[in-house]
Amino acid sequence: MVSRGTTQQSSAPYNRRIVLDVIRRHGSIARREIVDLVSLSPQTVANITNDLQTIGLIVARRVKGAKSRGQPPIAFELNPNAGNSIGISLEPGRVSAGLVNLVGEILERREVDIDTHDQRRVLETVMGLIRELRRRPAAAERLWGIGVALPGPLVKTDISFIGPTTLEGWSDLSVLDELRDASRLQVFYSVDSVAAALGESLFGVARALDNFFYMHFGVGLGGTLVVNRSAYRGANGNATEIGHIPAVPGGKPCYCGNAGCLERYLSVQSLAEALGVSEALDRDALIVAALERNTDAALQAWCREAAERLRDAVCVIENLLDPLTIVIGGSAPKLLVERLVALAEPLHHSVRGGVASPTTRIVLSERQEDSSILGAAVLPIYDLLSPRFEVLQQDRRAEADVAGLLGQRGTRRAGRL
Ligand SMILES: [Zn+2]
Repeated sequence: MVSRGTTQQSSAPYNRRIVLDVIRRHGSIARREIVDLVSLSPQTVANITNDLQTIGLIVARRVKGAKSRGQPPIAFELNPNAGNSIGISLEPGRVSAGLVNLVGEILERREVDIDTHDQRRVLETVMGLIRELRRRPAAAERLWGIGVALPGPLVKTDISFIGPTTLEGWSDLSVLDELRDASRLQVFYSVDSVAAALGESLFGVARALDNFFYMHFGVGLGGTLVVNRSAYRGANGNATEIGHIPAVPGGKPCYCGNAGCLERYLSVQSLAEALGVSEALDRDALIVAALERNTDAALQAWCREAAERLRDAVCVIENLLDPLTIVIGGSAPKLLVERLVALAEPLHHSVRGGVASPTTRIVLSERQEDSSILGAAVLPIYDLLSPRFEVLQQDRRAEADVAGLLGQRGTRRAGRL
C-alpha cells in the first residue's frame, strides 16, 4: 500500500514525506511512476522532487539502457550522502555504535564490552565511541542526531531494569539527557525491539510490508508489532514484551518474579546458562563454536526445547495478530537463529497457515547482528522518511523541525541539530 498525497495547504511536509517514502521503497523511480503512485498532480510532484533535490535529500540519475527517443528518462534515488546518524545499541555487557547514512548503510562500526551496571562508565564509553565515529571522513556530512536502542521495558514497571537481560541496576534514563548535553546533538531513544523493527521497516527485509511482527532475539527476547509501518507501543511504550509471557506452567523461575517465561527458554542468556558460559565477554564466540561442533549434548537439548517454545510463540503471535510475516532479528548469532527456525519446522497450524507461504511466515533479518545499531540510527530520521504522523512518541521530532529538514520555508532550518 502506498500513501496518498493530499491537496490541503497544511499537508505540504506530509506530501514531501510521501514522495520521499516512495523513492526509498523503490530504490530508484521515475517521476511519472511517482505521480501514478501518490495521486498528486504531475506539477506538484515536479515541485517536490525539485525541492528535495535542491536541499540534497534525493539525487537524479539517467536510466541506463532505456530505449526511448529523445532524452533518456530520469530516476530519483535517496542521496546516501545527504547526512548520517549515529546509532548506539546498549545491551547488558556491551555497547555498540555505528555511523549510518540515509540509505541505511553502516559506514563505521564500533563495539566495546563493558560492565553496563555503571551508568557513568556507559556514558563515558558512548561518548568515546561517538568521538571516534565523528572523526571519520563520512561524519563530515550533516549529522541528523543520535539514536539509542536499549532493552525494555523502559518506564518503571514491576519488571524494568531487573535481571541479566536488562540494563540491570538502572533506575532511570537521565544518562540520555547527559548524552545530549555532552554531544550537543539531538538524542532519540527507544526499546531495542521497536528501534530494530523500524530499521527493518525502512531498510531491511520488511521494507515492502505494511504490517509485520518483529521478534528481537538477543541477550533477552523482545517483540514489536508494526502496523501501517508504525510501531504499536501500548499504554506505556512497553507493548508486546513477549519475553515475559508465561510459556511453561511451573517452569524455570524468571528474574521478573514469575516462572516459565518465554525468555527463560528462548534467548542468548538462557543458552549461555545451559552451556555454563557466564561471562558476557566472548559469549557469542563460544556459542558459535559450540553450534559448529554440534556435539554438545547440553546444546542439543537446549536447541530442541527452544525450538518447541519458538514454534508455540509463532502460533500465539500469528493467531493473536495475523501479521504478514514474523521477522526475526537481534544480536543473537545468525547460526543460532537459523538452527532454531529449522528445528521449529513444521510450524503449528494457525491463521497464517494456508495463507502465507511457509517461507514467508518467518523471515530472518539480513542485518541480524547489526539490527539494533541500524534501528537506533533510524530513530533520528524515521519521521523524515515516513509519512506517518503517529510514529514515535517521546522520541519523535517536532513537526516544525521535520518541515525544516524537508526544506520548508519559514521554519527552523536543519544544521543546528
Ligand atoms: Zn519473566
